[in-house]
Amino acid sequence: MKKLFSCDTPYTRGQIRDLLGGGSAQSYLPTRNGKVLCGCFDPKKNRRAPFFIDIGAGPQVKKSAQWLVDDKNIIPVFIKQASHNWRYQGEFRAAGLSYDSQYRQWEGVREIAIAVLFLEQVKGIELSDNAEIEFPGQMEGNKKLRLHYVRERKPGLAKFKKELLLKKDGCLRCEVCGLNSRDLPEEIGLACFEVHHRVPLASLEDKSFTTLEDLAILCANCHRMIHKTEPLMSVEEFGSFFWGKH
Ligand SMILES: [Zn+2]
Ligand SMILES: [Zn+2]
Repeated sequence: MKKLFSCDTPYTRGQIRDLLGGGSAQSYLPTRNGKVLCGCFDPKKNRRAPFFIDIGAGPQVKKSAQWLVDDKNIIPVFIKQASHNWRYQGEFRAAGLSYDSQYRQWEGVREIAIAVLFLEQVKGIELSDNAEIEFPGQMEGNKKLRLHYVRERKPGLAKFKKELLLKKDGCLRCEVCGLNSRDLPEEIGLACFEVHHRVPLASLEDKSFTTLEDLAILCANCHRMIHKTEPLMSVEEFGSFFWGKH
């Protein structure tokens, strides 16, 4: 794909429209011929952009969000910094659309939002989300392990990963020991599943974004144990080790 946009250049909505060959310069999901062309989000209205987009009740934007999910096409995303100053954030695609009210109860969401569109970054610059990140004190000296924690504690993506699996399989299952939420008491069973960032520590710094595939589901026991391995084993290595196949 040809590189159209630069992270260092301020764009106006008119320039973005001209470069993409159309779309309304007012919409946050401008479209042409049934395809979404880009995302242009104003943090005043979409505080959780670019990963979580609050979808208003307008019929066209509802349709656009659904197109993006169905087409799985990759779009450039811009965040408004000031008037006539939109900054390119990288290339994104929709990971899903949820009408579940739990996502709308999060702080800072526009009142009229009826759904949340989840975007994942496929290319671009490192972005911080608003996550409150805590990690054990002893990790402070180890930049890579710290980065690992930061990535797996981005609460939105982790939450969404679990929701997707629950929708798809109806349960969560530990990728190491096989513990299944179906075998646990319904009301409390989900509490023991966590997400683990599976990208090897060595390559963490080269890869500046996290996708759903980078996250593994582990039970709290296995997650604690894998973090005791040094150097940190991959989920597959730890699985073999756990089952005594080393
Ligand atoms: Zn486990
Ligand atoms: Zn982990």
